[in-house]
Amino acid sequence: MPANTTTVADPSVDPTADEIVLPSACPLDCPDHCSLDVTVRDGAIQRIDGSHRSSVTDGFICTKVRNFGDRVYGPERLLHPAIRTGEKGEAQFRSVSWDDALDHVATRLRAIAEQHGPESILPVSYGGSNGMLTQGNTDARLFRRLGAAELLHTVCAAATGRATEGLYGKMPGVAYEDYVEAKLIVVWGANPSAAGIHLVPFIREAQSRGAKLVVVDPRRTPLAKRADLHLALRPGTDLPLALAVIRWLFENGAADDTFLGEHATGVEPLRKRADAWTIERAAEVCQLDPDALAQFARDYGAISPAVIRCGWGQERNRNGGSATAAILALPAVAGKFGVRGGGYTQSNSGAWNLGADALIGADEPTVPSVNMNRLGRHLVERAAPDIRALFVYNANPLMTFPDQERMRAGLAREDIFTVVFDQVMTDTARYADVVLPATTFLEHHEVQKGYGALSLQHAPPVIAPQGEARPNLEVFAELTRRMGLAKTDDVEDIATFNAHLHEQAEAVSGGGNNGQHSNSETGNGTGGSLANGAVVYPETGATPVMFRDHLPRTADHKVHLFPADLDAEAPAGLYAYQEESPSEAFPLVLISPATRRTISSTLGELYRGAAAVEIHPDDAAARGLESGDPVRVWNDLGEVHCAVRISRDEKPGVAFLAKGLWAHNTANGNTANALAPDTLTDLGGGACFNDARVEIARRDDDRTAT
Ligand code: SF4
Repeated sequence: MPANTTTVADPSVDPTADEIVLPSACPLDCPDHCSLDVTVRDGAIQRIDGSHRSSVTDGFICTKVRNFGDRVYGPERLLHPAIRTGEKGEAQFRSVSWDDALDHVATRLRAIAEQHGPESILPVSYGGSNGMLTQGNTDARLFRRLGAAELLHTVCAAATGRATEGLYGKMPGVAYEDYVEAKLIVVWGANPSAAGIHLVPFIREAQSRGAKLVVVDPRRTPLAKRADLHLALRPGTDLPLALAVIRWLFENGAADDTFLGEHATGVEPLRKRADAWTIERAAEVCQLDPDALAQFARDYGAISPAVIRCGWGQERNRNGGSATAAILALPAVAGKFGVRGGGYTQSNSGAWNLGADALIGADEPTVPSVNMNRLGRHLVERAAPDIRALFVYNANPLMTFPDQERMRAGLAREDIFTVVFDQVMTDTARYADVVLPATTFLEHHEVQKGYGALSLQHAPPVIAPQGEARPNLEVFAELTRRMGLAKTDDVEDIATFNAHLHEQAEAVSGGGNNGQHSNSETGNGTGGSLANGAVVYPETGATPVMFRDHLPRTADHKVHLFPADLDAEAPAGLYAYQEESPSEAFPLVLISPATRRTISSTLGELYRGAAAVEIHPDDAAARGLESGDPVRVWNDLGEVHCAVRISRDEKPGVAFLAKGLWAHNTANGNTANALAPDTLTDLGGGACFNDARVEIARRDDDRTAT
């Protein structure tokens, strides 16, 4: 740090310093919830670094957020409200004042509500680059009062969330810091080298202490290359794999009957559903070596503490909910809980139980809903409710929702009035009638809870808003007034919302722990407060031990291995494997996992490179392809034009095209989501991105395209 740099919590403390380092916190859709140090000079961001206020962050952050200044000051940044002047999709706009823009929006929304009913207005949001002061408060109040339709937030974590809560309730999982205590680590459906990167040092530390690492992933990820065992299963077959291990545990005396008797329900139905899955049968379906699968079962039965990092890769197919439930049943069947470093890690998002309902009123009438995974089809087929207005904020649906061609066609409808309120000119914003410029988390107050790290942080603004950008909270409050929906006692100020969230966080207690939390042996859990307004999970501290510091947050505080409602919801019943129908025309499985460059599509504007679809050398040879060839990747839903890259990191029969791309990354403006069906997972109505089946061929008409 230069000599004339000062670290302060408030910019007014030392206004003479050339540079000041201000605390912040990352609100992006990432489990790590980093604490940040932002270096500011003359009101402009110079550098963004990880701070040591969070033990998980430990002074380093990902390159995405290290370069977040490029988003703040980049050419795509929206700086002024604007109204469309060209065709939808062309991004031709003229700047207008906020007054004119908001009046126009309010007038149009009122007219649409009167003519077509308020349910013809659909708010489209999904986290984006923002935290809890940027959604679920004045925006939710406006749309509830209006009687607008509701968008079901299902594009990610819907199946996983349903399974996790069904089995364990909103129970916090194993903290990253406790992975060093594990002797067996299973990374399943996650690639922490690309997303949630702060888990990696703890895994490496555990390995240096002798822990075994197993990675379950179709791809040879960086951790898979360092693993003792890599199970490169066929995408969508996680369920048979997990059930085979469960069967093996029961068959070989490795199930913990004492734990199950005391802490679990639904043991017998689970055992019965697993019974058909011998190691040999599962290995055939999963395209794995049966000896490797048997080795995994033996290790999982024998080694403790054992922890499973269960990600989201396993949920992105028709069996995703049951697969997640089966994976999370493993530590219960094998009795892996009750010790530090034992159990599972999934999402801690629900564990906080935070929300602004008490401040915004949650008593509005029930409205029709639309599953975001089928929004394109809904718009194109003009399904009920007949949507005539889209209000898009904290989201880029054209790039993140499945069935991209239908989504594009829906956005192109001239009879739908579309508002996009965002920080940058997204591919979706190009279809807007009105664009409104939003502040980034560095320009407004933000609060975010970790869904990996168990902390809640308030991040004050570190720079002034760019151009005329405004915070969501303020704009939705103003729009509520202009639409004549405001009430005199409406809470609109950031301080009250912020205080409300912190009060709720600090009040987290009991919540189904049945009096068991002790946190007596706190290890590296602090149970106190971090600096600068951050709250560590108060119930147990940041590193609770599952089934010691707390029990499941189900009604009876037991793990429900066979919840009746999940069994009723899954089309073929819980844990029933839905086989795929082989397609001769489209023999390759297309998967689209996260990479280091984007968080979903957020920051996609910063990645200028050309995308490449990656396939195994055998698949390339069968198609006469060489690395760098321009190819078309297609199925019945659409096609993507890009280059091909040949890599042994891919499994034969599987193609990889990165998640989070924007139109400028491919030659024809389509991404992997143009090939993703809008079918739904067995639980939760989630997206089935990995059920995309494709063929790939050289584009002989365009040898120069990339
Ligand atoms: S995206 Fe994740 S790893 Fe990157 S700074 Fe934010 S919380 Fe940390």
